[in-house]
Amino acid sequence: MSALRLVFLGAPGAGKGTQAADLAKGRRVPHLSTGEMMRAAAAAGTSVGLAVKPYLDAGKLAPDDVTWGVIAARLDEKDCAPGFILDGFPRTLPQGERLAEKLAASRTPLTHVVYFEVPQDELMRRLMSRGRADDTPDVVRERLRNYEKLTAPLIAWYRGQHLLRSIDGTGSPADVHARLVGAIGGTAK
Ligand code: AMP
Repeated sequence: MSALRLVFLGAPGAGKGTQAADLAKGRRVPHLSTGEMMRAAAAAGTSVGLAVKPYLDAGKLAPDDVTWGVIAARLDEKDCAPGFILDGFPRTLPQGERLAEKLAASRTPLTHVVYFEVPQDELMRRLMSRGRADDTPDVVRERLRNYEKLTAPLIAWYRGQHLLRSIDGTGSPADVHARLVGAIGGTAK
């Protein structure tokens, strides 16, 4: 099967994590969630964990340098050679640029960026029902605001590079999965 180097974009609650886990299993590529990595580091009390915990707790993005340290090292691991699914990274334009530079240097550019579109009221409903420690109403609202301000610009940026595939993220996980496969299947390099 051809290489699959994907970025999943979308608001918190858009279903990126669920879809990434599912696709990763089927295509045998690692699912790289910076949120999961940071939560694990915070729980383990590592130096990275201590640095990011205040941001996680407040629903704010961790500093780009700390975040880049987490993900760049992970991308260099052997299991990423056949491809990867990035879920929650990049989240800012500078993060996207840094990733593009790294992948260009190893001649392994992204194959697609998938954008999961879900209306705001549906996002709020999903986030409030998943019951994670960092999903209190104030933190959820802060995360959605940060998404609009910092992450949404990446959509236009990737669209300009003809990498973006927008899909409807509403409906059941199985419905969304079918749309996802349709979006990446036909054009996979
Ligand atoms: P997530 O599980 O992807 O929603 O991420 C949970 C939290 O981890 C976010 O609210 C941020 O505090 C932090 N985080 C995850 N990914 C990033 C990133 N790419 N840049 C900065 N902070 C991040």
